[in-house]
Amino acid sequence: MPGLLPLSKYSSVISLTTPFTPPPIPTGTAATAALDSALSHLWSDYRRRNGQRAAALDIEQIDLSQKTSLLRQLLTVREPHPPLPANVLVDVERTLQYINRKKALTAVAALPVVLPARPKIALWRGDITALSGVTAIVNAANERMLGCFTPGHMCIDNVIHYAAGPRLRDDCAKIMGLQGQLEPNGKVKVTRGYLLPARYVLHTAGPQVPKRPAGVPRVSEEEKRDLEGSYWSCLEAMEDLQIGEGESKSVAFCCISTGLFGYPPEEAVNVAVDTVLAYLDKNPATSIDRVVFNVFTATDLSLYIDKLNSLLPKPTITPALLTPPATTSPSLELAAKWLKSAPNLLITAGAGLSASDGLDFTSHDLFRKNFQGMWEKGFTCLYDFFGYDEWESPAAKWGYYFCSIIFVRGWTAPCGVDNSVYTHLRKLITALYGESGEKSANLFIRTSNADGLFFRNGFSADRIATPQGTYELLQCMRKCRPDAYWPVQEFIDKAMPYLDTVANAIRQDIDGWEEAIPRCKHCAGEMFLCVRGGSFFTEVPFVESNRRYVEFKRRALKEGLVVLELGAGFNTPGVIRWEDERLVTVGEGRVKLVRVGLGGSEAVEWDLEDGERAVAIDGDAGKVTRSLVELLTTE
Ligand SMILES: [Zn+2]
Repeated sequence: MPGLLPLSKYSSVISLTTPFTPPPIPTGTAATAALDSALSHLWSDYRRRNGQRAAALDIEQIDLSQKTSLLRQLLTVREPHPPLPANVLVDVERTLQYINRKKALTAVAALPVVLPARPKIALWRGDITALSGVTAIVNAANERMLGCFTPGHMCIDNVIHYAAGPRLRDDCAKIMGLQGQLEPNGKVKVTRGYLLPARYVLHTAGPQVPKRPAGVPRVSEEEKRDLEGSYWSCLEAMEDLQIGEGESKSVAFCCISTGLFGYPPEEAVNVAVDTVLAYLDKNPATSIDRVVFNVFTATDLSLYIDKLNSLLPKPTITPALLTPPATTSPSLELAAKWLKSAPNLLITAGAGLSASDGLDFTSHDLFRKNFQGMWEKGFTCLYDFFGYDEWESPAAKWGYYFCSIIFVRGWTAPCGVDNSVYTHLRKLITALYGESGEKSANLFIRTSNADGLFFRNGFSADRIATPQGTYELLQCMRKCRPDAYWPVQEFIDKAMPYLDTVANAIRQDIDGWEEAIPRCKHCAGEMFLCVRGGSFFTEVPFVESNRRYVEFKRRALKEGLVVLELGAGFNTPGVIRWEDERLVTVGEGRVKLVRVGLGGSEAVEWDLEDGERAVAIDGDAGKVTRSLVELLTTE
């Protein structure tokens, strides 16, 4: 049985010390051609392996976002043997280069110091593949060390392998072939980072923790030692890595073993921080200048904040302190250039904008913390109630809806108002159209979000259209009269004495609770939120704002327009996404689209980018808006 393969035995096999030169970024048209040709090879290869059971691929029939998602899935399931033909590898890498360069990057050097006595430590929430200037990022691998083979799985292993390109898996396969045995937990293998902004990737297999019955410790001693081993091995490996002259050495850790590997995050955070600090104490002459704890979920962020705060005499770390500094990319600079000379600005927004402010309708964590009663009934997120209609009684229904309306209307960004995406947007508007820019006739806002956050963040109501409705109104479900809708506040006031905000229920043990159930003032019929959720929805309250939008659009199409689309995603694409694309088409060059979204939702047709009619930015709406403000207000 061969032993663990040390770095010295595989380093030259994978040319670890030779800097990788990626192919140049192609034009949009060339990237489209490269994508099509890569897909047709990968698909026929996939069919061959699967005995022709998969259907033939008609590349003409699928759109760009389907193509890129297919590319991701085919690369995920690809076996490293036989290697890709050289021309296919180039096509894949050119495509990925084109996709990757849309990412809004964050420079590791710009991350704030959180522990004054420990300037090497940084904490950052974001996409680890968008951290630039970093020497190495840590990948949470498994014992096979070849990446995750589950298509569509958004684990860190998949995310890193996809962004780095196929050479990453090929290198891992070479190393594992030489080692001749599975990788034990708590060790590390190093590869180059290829298409990543990081020079190296440290692959470590952390322990997998099974579910244990109550009363038994959730983590065994061995599992804890293995997790410590992962952190320690990565740090040791860093010492041997070469960097360029004048560069400083940095490493970014993901949250190893949490998530599907089952290590409880509230225990993993202690292992992570304690091990790194112990290593730095034991190795005062270390060559490492920066250790970044990279987190992705809101839960992990607050766990790391609590842990690091516990090391300070007084807790001073808050989410606001950690707000990432400006991000940069060629796409951002182009967007800023367009905005600067925009005669008119249309801001369009979808769920990604609210999520950027922390109000994530798909977040289980947010829901569990704020809707205890509903959580206990088996609901998992706010989104579960979209289209839900199996309430046992009107009291049950309104018990929940009043709680959710109060919750959404009272929302403030956890990162603080100053760091809220809406604050950045107001600054952006001020930079373009002056102090009272929000009222400017050159501005319009159109959002599919019914949460009313634009209003509540002080934007002028007569420059906003909410075609999907609003939580601010309740309406008669029969639409008995055109004016059968009223502000929600008066219904909340009536319901408050009977509302149990913990159980998310109307208290039927209090006399007169029926008062709490909203009734139409005209026909005493059933009511509902005035949101587009079925044929009951009344358009009447939105006719006027839609008329203003149409008027704005007509003029802006003549004068010139920049559409800044934030987090529109793929839910109800007809409302925001396709409408924005249509504006570009009918605008005949006078309309430019800046589409901001995460992980593929930012996609615009690549030939539109060649013609400088659209630009895609892969990044969080809040971070990107903040960067745009900085680009617009400096120089
Ligand atoms: Zn009515």
